[in-house]
Amino acid sequence: MTARPSSPRRRAVVIGASVAGLLCAAAVSRHFDEVHVVDRDRRPRGLSARGGVPHARHSHILLHPGCVAVEALLPGAMAGLQAAGAAYGPASSRLVIHLGGGPIDLRTTDLAVLALGREALEGELRRQTQTLPGITFHWRTSVLDVRLDGGRRVVGVRATSLDDGQIADLEADLVVDASGRTSHIVDTLAGYGIPAPPVDRVRVDGWYVTRRFTLSPGRARPEALGELATIIQTTPGVLRRTAVLCRVDSRTWSVSMAGYGGERAPAELPGFRDFAQELSGPIVPVLADLVPDGDPVVFRLPNLVRRRFDRLDDPPAGLVVVGDAVCTVDAAGGIGMSLAAVQALALREALEAVPLRKVPREAYRRSAGTLDLAWRGALSRHVPATGDGVVIDRHVRQVLAAAEHDPVLGLAFSRVAHLQAEPHTLLAPPLAQRALAAAPSA
Ligand SMILES: Cc1cc2nc3c(=O)[nH]c(=O)nc-3n(C[C@H](O)[C@H](O)[C@H](O)COP(=O)(O)OP(=O)(O)OC[C@H]3O[C@@H](n4cnc5c(N)ncnc54)[C@H](O)[C@@H]3O)c2cc1C
Repeated sequence: MTARPSSPRRRAVVIGASVAGLLCAAAVSRHFDEVHVVDRDRRPRGLSARGGVPHARHSHILLHPGCVAVEALLPGAMAGLQAAGAAYGPASSRLVIHLGGGPIDLRTTDLAVLALGREALEGELRRQTQTLPGITFHWRTSVLDVRLDGGRRVVGVRATSLDDGQIADLEADLVVDASGRTSHIVDTLAGYGIPAPPVDRVRVDGWYVTRRFTLSPGRARPEALGELATIIQTTPGVLRRTAVLCRVDSRTWSVSMAGYGGERAPAELPGFRDFAQELSGPIVPVLADLVPDGDPVVFRLPNLVRRRFDRLDDPPAGLVVVGDAVCTVDAAGGIGMSLAAVQALALREALEAVPLRKVPREAYRRSAGTLDLAWRGALSRHVPATGDGVVIDRHVRQVLAAAEHDPVLGLAFSRVAHLQAEPHTLLAPPLAQRALAAAPSA
């Protein structure tokens, strides 16, 4: 347990009460007397999806780095999530992944996965965060601007009530921008003459359609469906179509079909089912076995975006940007919430390690490695390989094909997918030799 710092750290403001905002509120709570979490949405009732998080109705799982970071930020969180209906445990027996062929052999993969409907997951994180000392939520309150002083130090935010239009300044020593993909922080910084961070942007034209299904009355879960989730991709190269089937609760599954580069799954049921025909794995018979429940939801993701706040020469003191506002990757990696959790943990570690003015740079430094891995993984799914990359890509495909029958290769793949290892580790000589030995001779 770290002692409270002696320097005055009175008030923190967190913009956004979604996964990144809640976890950052938990991260900063023991360092500030007051933590104000501001969100423009209505106060959520029960576990229903919020309008401010339109992606929440789509399939979500929490991968290993997210499980570890969430538990570190909110001790007991995994038990609380399980009590709220989550299934949690090692990927080995609970996750099924097809990358253009049969399931990857995950028998020896002990990395953890958690599955629960995204609304319930966020609801439980909110419940746990609310119990921390000093935290106040301000719903229906939209942040208009982050305010800096002449020395480019954060002094607070300007916010408006969406109920009565009143505008008020909320002073703060630390502001965390967790307002997601639509964050205005770059424009705000420009208003103070602060250069925009370098931005990496890749057009993917992602289109997600999600429908919920229940198990047929009296029927058990189809055996081909993983206990927690099943992920199916057309090929390990440039992605065109994927499907993710995630457990929402003991009888409900959400099925998301994603198309990239102009591919679009129809929302109506027959077309939705047809879209699955091109995918490998058990999706067609599994869908035939499930009962549709409710209306489809659609989400569009035009670009992958990474804003390199870690490369700003002189980031404003007291301002930290996290979550999708920093890095938006495709849903095929299932990693956005994990990145938010890793960034929140990095923020807490930075607060423990350095004076407040150095916290932004330190927090960005501590999470940059994990963000690099996620970003490179996303690029490998969407940017065609060129030059030497073509050969490397072919070798990786060989390793992944062999991983369907080899738990050692399955574990190596899993470590990359959960951001525990660099993709090039798949080509280490012992693994490459195993893959070569397994390849059918030409
Ligand atoms: C289709 C799809 C599937 C996904 N699947 C997975 C998955 O399986 N696993 C995974 O880990 N991740 C997944 N993700 C990513 C994940 O949903 C996000 O990374 C995660 O929600 C973290 O986002 P965030 O908290 O940064 O922002 P958001 O969730 O977008 O939340 C931003 C919050 O800020 C509030 N806000 C915005 N502007 C203001 C303002 N001016 N003032 C006050 N409040 C404001 C909004 O109301 C909202 O509550 C998926 C994403 C999509 C689109």
